[in-house]
Amino acid sequence: MSFANLGLVLIGKQGAGKGTQGAELSKHYDIPHISTGEMFRELVRLESPTGKELKQYIAKGELIPDETVIKAVKERLSFPDCAHGFILDGFPRTITQAEALSDLGTPSKLDLVINLEIPTRLVLQRLTRRRVCSNCGANYSLDSPPKVPWICDVCNGKVTKRVDDTEQVIQKRLHLYEDQTRPLLQWYKTRGLLVDIDASRDSNEVTRQIVNAIDQKLKDKKDSKVSNNYEDDIS
Ligand SMILES: [Zn+2]
Repeated sequence: MSFANLGLVLIGKQGAGKGTQGAELSKHYDIPHISTGEMFRELVRLESPTGKELKQYIAKGELIPDETVIKAVKERLSFPDCAHGFILDGFPRTITQAEALSDLGTPSKLDLVINLEIPTRLVLQRLTRRRVCSNCGANYSLDSPPKVPWICDVCNGKVTKRVDDTEQVIQKRLHLYEDQTRPLLQWYKTRGLLVDIDASRDSNEVTRQIVNAIDQKLKDKKDSKVSNNYEDDIS
């Protein structure tokens, strides 16, 4: 079986499960899950030209401009592990970035944008119940606590609530998200690339829904290729 190329973008509020779904899809399709934060850290570590640029902004605590973010994505997508595709998480955030992504000239092109829809009420519930190991970053929640109360299973570190996981701060982040992301979702919708997924369900069920949507898209892509070839044959 030949591997189909697959370019994917995950969009969703914090707490919608982008990290979990990205990891599952990465395993399933054998393509890298690239979250923007990790990508920045990786390029800085590699000391590539873009990495050096990023390092300056990060050191000064400045917002990284679109132009540099786009350069970073372009560089990351040219790595050999992206030969058969990619899963982007945290990029694009703006229409300018989305336009750039459709014109990067990388081997794999964007096929689908998965919008993980989750009601604000549920985000608040998930995030205010979330607990994190202050030492290794392992995730817990009031519903799935560590074995010994609030001592990390992995490293014995102290498990606490993140300081920015208060309802007020989360609400503020969600408003920002809405302002920025709604136009982006609309932009992808008019281009026929957007798939809405109900992310409020069990995470295995969410993965199943996404895989179905992707496989359908890959099948359509294959079918249209076959019919194009056929037209070539008879002309
Ligand atoms: Zn820990």
